[in-house]
Amino acid sequence: MRFVDEFRDGALGRKVAAQILGVVEPGRHYKVMEVCGGHTHSIYRYGVDDLLPENVELVHGPGCPVCVIPMGRVDDGIAIAREPGVIFTCFGDMLRVPGSAGTLLDAKAQGADVRMVYSPLDALRIARAEPDREVVFFAIGFETTAPSTALTLMRARAEGLRNFSCMCNHVTIVPPLRALLDSPDLRLDGFIGPGHVSTVVGARPFEFIPADYGRPVVIAGFEPLDILQAIHMILAQLAADRCEVENQYTRVVPYDGNPAALRAMAEVFELRPHFEWRGLGFISQSALRLADAYADLDAERRFAVPGVRVADPKACQCGEVLKGVIKPWECKVFGTACTPEHAIGTCMVSPEGACAAYYNYGRFVTSSGGPSL
Ligand code: SF4
Repeated sequence: MRFVDEFRDGALGRKVAAQILGVVEPGRHYKVMEVCGGHTHSIYRYGVDDLLPENVELVHGPGCPVCVIPMGRVDDGIAIAREPGVIFTCFGDMLRVPGSAGTLLDAKAQGADVRMVYSPLDALRIARAEPDREVVFFAIGFETTAPSTALTLMRARAEGLRNFSCMCNHVTIVPPLRALLDSPDLRLDGFIGPGHVSTVVGARPFEFIPADYGRPVVIAGFEPLDILQAIHMILAQLAADRCEVENQYTRVVPYDGNPAALRAMAEVFELRPHFEWRGLGFISQSALRLADAYADLDAERRFAVPGVRVADPKACQCGEVLKGVIKPWECKVFGTACTPEHAIGTCMVSPEGACAAYYNYGRFVTSSGGPSL
């Protein structure tokens, strides 16, 4: 299949791995962060890290939309779902994210009408079919999914639908990256930039990373050869003492993004002054809410929500995983109390979460304390 098979060619992968070996300095340890959970998933699915020299370490970033939703927001969603007459809709992986007293799936088992949808337009279809019920869409995701929520709200407005609203949890990618770069915990040499987000925002918003922090960024696609080539491009920049934003994913990502998607977002959303990220705390101007012009479609204004901050469970180390400070297998409950079937933290719930990627592709802790295949 075009754009798939040729990006999974093992012989080409070994060639790029040899090129990577040619640009690394022996004795220097490199830490490269893949920002996006989709990259983490591909890296472990295809064994990309097994092709890298030992001194090139991949560190997993905060770019998994489900992983960063704090417990308080799940509780708020469940409170709305339990309102009489509400049909509460969300993506499938959100159903299993733990709040302080269970998940949306638990609320469904207890009688709330919670339904899985594949897109916000599915939720809109339900609203048209059930005019006597209030249909709420629990919107999550970075700039990748925010345009589809914006367009759905524009359509609801155009159709005059009165029984549809959105609980907006969309987040933006630049503020958490800045927070990570300001963190003293972490020394990173470069970033594999988020390919999906960049299809919307473009590569330009990442120029602050080389300009302010002196680190290279390469926007990358999600096939194994994309990721290997991006790692080579980052290490080649470091070898040549260069530091800039490069775009490996040119077949999809325009440098200036998608203007129609950006226009839709600008019409429907505005920045929240601050937003809580699971494990990362409050980050200024890091999330979106509905602009005043769409206030009547805002579920948080239509329904009463507790809006309470809930601390993560003591055993949960998702924050450290999301910041790349520890590897998933270093969490005390990884693979024992916390598994995809019974997740304590969000990073084990979503397929894009680093813990789920390690668990599903066999990076289990061994008796010697390290990961094994
Ligand atoms: S193993 Fe579970 S609790 Fe630990 S960091 Fe991963 S998701 Fe969080």
